[in-house]
Amino acid sequence: MQFRNFKMVGYVVYGRGSFNQLNEILATHRKPNAPMIFLVDHFFEGKELVNRVPLQQNDKLIFADVTYEPKTKQVDALAQQLKDEFGTVSGVIGIGGGSTMDLAKAVALMMNNSGSSADYQGWDLVKQPGVYKVGIPTLSGTGAEVSRTTVLTGPTKKLGMNSDFTPFDQIVLDPELCKDAPANQRFYTGMDCYIHCIESLTGTYLNEFSKSYGDKALQLCREVFLSDGEWTDEHDDKLMMASYAGGMSIAYSQVGVAHAVSYGLSYLLGTKHGIGNCIVMNHLEEYYPEGVAEFKQMVQKNNIDIPEGICIGLTDEQFETMMNVSLGMKPLWENALGKNWEAIMTREKLRALYEKL
Ligand code: NAD
Ligand code: ZN
Repeated sequence: MQFRNFKMVGYVVYGRGSFNQLNEILATHRKPNAPMIFLVDHFFEGKELVNRVPLQQNDKLIFADVTYEPKTKQVDALAQQLKDEFGTVSGVIGIGGGSTMDLAKAVALMMNNSGSSADYQGWDLVKQPGVYKVGIPTLSGTGAEVSRTTVLTGPTKKLGMNSDFTPFDQIVLDPELCKDAPANQRFYTGMDCYIHCIESLTGTYLNEFSKSYGDKALQLCREVFLSDGEWTDEHDDKLMMASYAGGMSIAYSQVGVAHAVSYGLSYLLGTKHGIGNCIVMNHLEEYYPEGVAEFKQMVQKNNIDIPEGICIGLTDEQFETMMNVSLGMKPLWENALGKNWEAIMTREKLRALYEKL
């Protein structure tokens, strides 16, 4: 038996207003003539947060366009731009949702690795540690702040750069940064966490490590999405910790059916991760009966619309593409359905599921 020996985030600061400590945190990581690069979610362009970014000397603030989820060519272009302009940098700080954090991780890695980020999509292919990197979430749910991957869409696949060099050196968990998130977005990203919990807690890979974090994250998700009344600061506080714990839970287990199917949607149709997972989860009674019932309760309670009929009119070839992407996610299926998963999730069955979405 080979036990997973995983690399965790180096430093964690948590609390409302902890963003104000960023300047002090970065100080010891500054190298002569090498700037800090702040990659900030484009949502914050013109917003007050930008004035609070602790820029010094030749530091650079770049707004990250996350209209689409991160692509390998976007990562390569950003890393090349920084190499051309500065040679080297002291660090990359990603401030935003899962997309911006993933971009920051990938760019930090590509500052010290040659070729294209597409060469490193897979498991343990990254050769060199990246530059210092910091993750600062402004949406809660993906767990990207703690994970050892950065999900990228490349020329042939949507797959992360999974490696021990990928986790952030530092994360700043300041729930105040989530205060302006629109209810729909907050829900979709929050449900990513809820779905991580259900997939982890019902999976065959489960152990006490994953269960401890998964149980806690699930409890927090319930407190947030099943409570009565207005959204408050306390909800943001809880959801940020749920995201962290949910990420820790899957670090030692795996996600499952909702993610495997949603990856196919996102590859073919560009459906975003959070909403894609919700679209799929809505139809997974057979696999997660209790989780899906509770998910539907959350949808209703929070007045959220989950799109339907997104696969209507797709061609056979398009269904094949989605199925190939999905069935390629072997560990996810094995976690969800056991070693015998291929006999359970046949192509016919998966096709029927996609047709329902
Ligand atoms: P996102 O980062 O894609 O952002 C969604 C939208 O919300 C964007 O328009 C963004 O500009 C906006 N936004 C961000 N913060 C905001 C705020 N505070 N207020 C208002 N708007 C805000 O959304 P996400 O759900 O956090 O992340 C999804 C991404 O994370 C996907 O690319 C997915 O592949 C990735 N992901 C990564 C991991 C991992 O372990 N690395 C895990 C799950 C998902
Ligand atoms: Zn997810």
